[in-house]
Amino acid sequence: MGESSIIFQYCTGKMIYINVAVGLSILLLVIGLSVGLSVNTFKGRDALDSAPLIDGHNDLPYNFYHILSNNLSAFHFESDLRNDNVWGKNACSSCFTDLPRLNAGKVGGQFWVAYTPCESQYKDSVQLTLRQIDVIRRFIQRYPANLQLVTAAGDIETTWRNGKIASMIAIEGGHSLDSSLALLRLYYDLGVRYVTLTHTCNTPWADASIVDNGYVYNLTDFGKTVVYEMNRIGMLVDLSHVSHNVMREVLAITRAPVIFSHSSAFSVCKHYRNVPDDVLHLVKKNNGIVMVNFYSGFVNCNSSRNATLQDVVDHINHIRNLIGVNHVGIGGDYDGVSSMPMGLEDVSKYPDLFDRLYENREGEPTWTREDLEKLAGRNFIRVFQAVEAVRDSLSSESPREDVITGNELYIAQKKEGLKDPGACQTAKEWSNVNATSDAEEKTSGLKVSKIMELLGRNLIGMTHHHSVWTHVGGC
Ligand SMILES: [Zn+2]
Repeated sequence: MGESSIIFQYCTGKMIYINVAVGLSILLLVIGLSVGLSVNTFKGRDALDSAPLIDGHNDLPYNFYHILSNNLSAFHFESDLRNDNVWGKNACSSCFTDLPRLNAGKVGGQFWVAYTPCESQYKDSVQLTLRQIDVIRRFIQRYPANLQLVTAAGDIETTWRNGKIASMIAIEGGHSLDSSLALLRLYYDLGVRYVTLTHTCNTPWADASIVDNGYVYNLTDFGKTVVYEMNRIGMLVDLSHVSHNVMREVLAITRAPVIFSHSSAFSVCKHYRNVPDDVLHLVKKNNGIVMVNFYSGFVNCNSSRNATLQDVVDHINHIRNLIGVNHVGIGGDYDGVSSMPMGLEDVSKYPDLFDRLYENREGEPTWTREDLEKLAGRNFIRVFQAVEAVRDSLSSESPREDVITGNELYIAQKKEGLKDPGACQTAKEWSNVNATSDAEEKTSGLKVSKIMELLGRNLIGMTHHHSVWTHVGGC
């Protein structure tokens, strides 16, 4: 073998090495590029393809009542209603929801709210609440390809994976319970999975945010019983709308994690509907969740400018920075308010919020895909599962049989300014108003004879113990 041949062999061998090296380099480059590209093309909204976006609060059912008297045949859910002459933004300032926009918004789970105004308290709140539960159930049944009633945490994700919005029912405002544990239990049986303890009015057993720093009833013993019974049956306790002191009271006694279905951060915008920092720390300890409200008036306290998507980002990031990514979620409050921030104008806009968070701007916490999935829905599912686990652990506990006293109801109605407290009540506990005159005098300074005078009632005798009072005037 001559020298040239050796050189040739050497060169050929070298060339093979070079070819292999070049080939490997190209391969690595291609792999590198594709990995790089896939990282670069991930957008925050893509997290909504791997975890359901669950919104804690939508008041569309109240618009059914308000606009259509719950006549669903006149509602075209499957149409884009943006410019509709009844549901469009020019016709209805609190209408933000239809199916095309929910789909564009990648909504995977939604609490539909059975809300009745505080004016119905002590009047027909129960009947109105039942009508709202009925219309939500009919709404869900009307669109079986798009919506499915969900009452268990474990069904949210499967429903969403089947291409439907996991539709859950909520009650907003303890006045819907009419101070009755029986109603609480029956609402659960009808599919309701959270109750907001108050709306904007105090109930006889819990204060609403209107009392600011103070209290009227705070959380009474009966209020504590309501919370214990909710824990026992697996009804989520929602602390949006309650006073800051009631938030603290409930967090001190609840046996299950709580939710704030639609509340933002008080230290970012000092509105008493928002959650103060000390309560946020308690929520972390409780393993609960604050689902951030988008309403312009809660996220932006600066009246010289309009609210924007950035305000919502700031609330989410504040909560995350303070108590961690496991305790924050989304509760837009669409259809319950008349003003939404620029950039979050309707239910189609959630993906923009997730894109924006994933930009991970300087000074903001870093959001990973996993974090965004938690914010979207995984945190809420965890809380819901924990509430179910508490329910199961309490299965040996009997239903509570406490009844609020007539005195508490009388005092509450009087404080509420009802001209004729108790005038429309026939329930047995109202006889307590007479039987416990001492308590009544202590709390309200009224003597029984005076109450009777005020009530315009006759005492028809203690012999018939079912009906102590009879009403003389109209109800
Ligand atoms: Zn609300």
